[in-house]
Amino acid sequence: MWRIRSWFTGRWYPCRRDTNRGSATLISGAMMAAVITVICIAFISLRYLYSVRRAGDVAVVAAALAALRSEAAENLAYGEYQLSKPAAVAVFKSALQENLKLDSSLRPLGDHCITTPVTIEEISVYNPEDITAGLTCSCGTAIRKTSIHVIVSYRVRIPGLHGLLGTESRLRIHKDVDNHYLINIA
Ligand SMILES: [Zn+2]
Repeated sequence: MWRIRSWFTGRWYPCRRDTNRGSATLISGAMMAAVITVICIAFISLRYLYSVRRAGDVAVVAAALAALRSEAAENLAYGEYQLSKPAAVAVFKSALQENLKLDSSLRPLGDHCITTPVTIEEISVYNPEDITAGLTCSCGTAIRKTSIHVIVSYRVRIPGLHGLLGTESRLRIHKDVDNHYLINIA
């Protein structure tokens, strides 16, 4: 009788301890998998936002270059030249509209990662006659040549983790592009 009880307890308690350990391992493994999944989705979302931001940078710089060529393109070979400011602004807006696939009101066309109209917050055209010693744009970049300073902003959709990252992110892009094509990427 004693031997049976000893055998029973000897088998029973280790078995119960193994069950608890197995459950704990299962729960911690599931939690780790959930955390890794969240980190992966966050990483993909942030990479997506980074690529959308870079695409916006390129679109704005390309539009500014188009504006710099809006008049007297042959004068580019001679260095400084005068831009018609209204014409340069119109060309910038038109090129930005085409680059970002926007309508005439700068609203996104079709299924788009941009969720709001694009706002041109600031646009300034600097001709040689405007340039004085120590001249800077409103963001502090030195202006030394015929240049365009522009700030645009819009919101883009975030693909995942809306509870953590929100559904949208606001992008604000500032660029100064001059006629020697020195570009402030930062
Ligand atoms: Zn600027």
